[in-house]
Amino acid sequence: MNQFDRDAALQQTRQRWRWFLVAFAFVTNASSVFGIETVTVSRDGEQQELSGRILVEAQDGGLLLETPEQIIWTIMPEEIVSRRSDDASFELADRKQLTALTLRELPPGFNVHNTAHYVICYNTSKAYAQWCGALYERLHRAFLNFWKGHGIELTANEPLVAVVFRDKAGYRAYSQPELGEATNSIIGYYSLKSNRIVSYDLTGLEQLRAPGDRTGTMAHISQMLRRPQAERTVATIIHEATHQIAFNSGLQRRFADNPLWLSEGLAIYFESPDLKSRKGWRRIGAVNQFRLRQMRSYLQKRPAGSLTSLIVDDQRFRDSRLANHAYAESWSLCYHLIRTRPQEFKAYLEKIGQKPPLEPTDPEARLAEFKAAFGDDIGLLDKEFVKAIQQWR
Ligand SMILES: [Zn+2]
Repeated sequence: MNQFDRDAALQQTRQRWRWFLVAFAFVTNASSVFGIETVTVSRDGEQQELSGRILVEAQDGGLLLETPEQIIWTIMPEEIVSRRSDDASFELADRKQLTALTLRELPPGFNVHNTAHYVICYNTSKAYAQWCGALYERLHRAFLNFWKGHGIELTANEPLVAVVFRDKAGYRAYSQPELGEATNSIIGYYSLKSNRIVSYDLTGLEQLRAPGDRTGTMAHISQMLRRPQAERTVATIIHEATHQIAFNSGLQRRFADNPLWLSEGLAIYFESPDLKSRKGWRRIGAVNQFRLRQMRSYLQKRPAGSLTSLIVDDQRFRDSRLANHAYAESWSLCYHLIRTRPQEFKAYLEKIGQKPPLEPTDPEARLAEFKAAFGDDIGLLDKEFVKAIQQWR
């Protein structure tokens, strides 16, 4: 399996979250709870004090709590040692506080590169951090402009945090607790919990290097990562950064029931930049040739109920034999709907974006939401969809 095809991180977090959904079955909507809650939590024999705002409080006492540095904690009732509230108003950390809080969690030796919308914490070369910053800023601008063009005004939370490790070893040590084994096979991820994108210096990847490569300056780095063999690698970094913006601009909400086909289809829609152009994403919405090839190969054996199975739940993404095609079909569906039904797609996105955290949508309800936006006749839509895919170039 291609290591860049699946971003296990989003799923990993979701699996943990699914486990919580069971406990949170009877949820009290806590949006009316003001003030700051301080909870002492005991996990793996260690106690930790967390202060923040409660997003959800379950009937059994479980909590979804957001701390000022944008981390969302899922706390089980049995983990709570004590809790107290005060009525001070909750505020997210500003850039300076956020930087300090992030650095506290990283190994010593990290530096900070600030851009208009990002705090980039890195322990690799400054030039590489600058290359990342420029890439993220271009994506950020392109992403908001794209949706503006589709009648959706988004405002991104600021700043967003990116962590860039010098090498795979450091990245692995940091991400292991959250990703487990998946940390070995993915080169970067977006964490729904910490809200950060995490990756490592790609110029160290042997397969991307050519004889005589130097990576001392941004120009060298750009040259190296513009090569065709780097396309999928860079696409992965952008894919994860797209998830981060989507979840921080009002388009999607963290810990709400976002269908994976939608989250993934959107991230793939943006993942391939035009690195030859200074603006990077002049051609947003171009056909993603890599995913189109996968989709065409899937069409050879695609079962009749494929579209419905993609919509009703996220099972296909969790099965390693089916995941690649689920990603390809997700992109294809988003691409098709954005092109042929932009108004309906907008309405659907807005509906999904308003869902509260930790409220699961069952398969029937997911299908009903989809039909409410795009019409009852899934069979007809599917016919038209398959025909369209065959015409994409
Ligand atoms: Zn993804």
